[in-house]
Formats: sequence, structure tokens, C-alpha cells
Amino acid sequence: MFDIVGHMKYEVVIGLEIHARINTLTKLFCRCDNNTFNQDPNTHVCGICMGFPGMLPVLNREAVQKGIKAGLALGCTIKEFSKFDRKNYFYPDLPKGYQISQYDQPISENGKITITKTDGTVKAIGITRLHLEDDAGKLTHTGDGTLVDFNRSGSPLMEIVSEPDMRTVEEASLYARQIQKIVRYINASDADMEKGQMRFDLNISLRPEGQKEFGIRAEIKNLNSFRSLEKAAEYEINRQTELLDRGEKVIQETRGWDDVKEVTISQRSF
Ligand SMILES: [Zn+2]
Repeated sequence: MFDIVGHMKYEVVIGLEIHARINTLTKLFCRCDNNTFNQDPNTHVCGICMGFPGMLPVLNREAVQKGIKAGLALGCTIKEFSKFDRKNYFYPDLPKGYQISQYDQPISENGKITITKTDGTVKAIGITRLHLEDDAGKLTHTGDGTLVDFNRSGSPLMEIVSEPDMRTVEEASLYARQIQKIVRYINASDADMEKGQMRFDLNISLRPEGQKEFGIRAEIKNLNSFRSLEKAAEYEINRQTELLDRGEKVIQETRGWDDVKEVTISQRSF
């Protein structure tokens, strides 16, 4: 259990949630243009994606077809029945007051993909589920206040949730790159990270080698490049190793990533 310098050895457990913008012509539940990159703020909005009372959302067939294609490409089972749910939360980028997502009946589940590591070994990474949901708007904080742009509000996303199957930063990075390759190949998402079309939430925990139960995990939200994914994972492995080495506990919490300082920051704990 201990290496020669006396540190306990830990196994790293990583799971990833990936949000990829589906490249449909229109948004998930309305006819607004889904191509809003570099457009003037709040020019691609309507009563549906703004959540006005009495509006009737109509599901975009193309988004469902692309979601199914992506599910199949990730080896998932496509569910004959799936449904949407309201995820209620209050935040200024969400005029509806809820996100339309899929909770207990996702469109697809139980898939897997393989990655090839630099040493040539091939490893399978399980996919828990792929579900559809709509995106929120975008807040820009300025010195004088906060600007809000709802162009992105209601855009179709697929959320791809992995099993906690990755054990190294390399595996997490290869997995994320492989997902990008697959969704691009089948033309379900352009997955251009510079345009915010793909982003990662990283779940990461450590456990003593040989222990079956998972350790307590931290979630690092909204990583928007492969580099920040890798750097955040490295930082968390070091941070959690130091905590455990000192006999302290990792707190289950959501953390953000500071791209400039290259540190994760506590946002809230449960
Ligand atoms: Zn709209």
C-alpha cells in the first residue's frame, strides 16, 4: 500500500460528461436558427426558446435522428420509449426557469467505445447514457454589470455520460478526443471547442490501490479545451493525493477551472 517514500498509492478513477452541440439547422423545440456563432446577441430567439407563457415546444426530428445516430455510433442501445423532463433551476441565463432534459428515460444507454493508448494497448470505456437536452443562454460579465445573450438558449445538446472507467489523464484525454472524432464523423456535431460546441465535466476521485469502493469525488465543470481537461485532471490528482496523504478528506463538491492560474476552485459543496 505504501511506496518507498511512505506515500499511500492511489488509483485514479475518472468519469466524463461531455456536452456536444447537435449541428441541426434549427433549435431543439423551435424554428430559430441554430447557427448563432458570432451573430448579434438576442437576434435568434422566439417565444418558445425564451420560455414565454403559452408557447408550444415542438421536438426537432433532425435532432432526435442525430442523437440516435450518435447513440448507435457509441454502441448504445436505442430506447423505444424515451421522454423529456423539466430540470428546474433559477439562473439568469435560463429564461424558462427550467432546462428541458432527459432524466430517467434517455434516448440511449449502455454503450462503449475503445481507445488506443500510446503504448499500443486498447481499452474499452463504457458509456452510461446519451441523452438530449436544450442549452441555456450565455452571460458575459463586464465591469458595469452582466450582459445576457439568449441566442444559444434552446440549442440542442447531447450529453454523453461515461462510466468511471478511466484511470489516467491520458485515458481521459484519449476518450474525449475519440468522442469528438465519432460525433464529427457521423455529422451529429461539429464539436468545435473554440466555438463552445463541446465541453467537459470531469468527475475524479482517488482510492487506495486494491480498494473496491470509490473514493469521494470532485466534479470539475465546464472545461472547454482538451488542454484544460488534461491540466484540471492533473491538478485534481495532485490536490486529492496531498489531502489524502495528510489524512484529510476530499469533499464532494463542484469545482471550477481557472485557465489562467491553472487551478480548480471550489464552487459549492453538498
Ligand atoms: Zn426559438
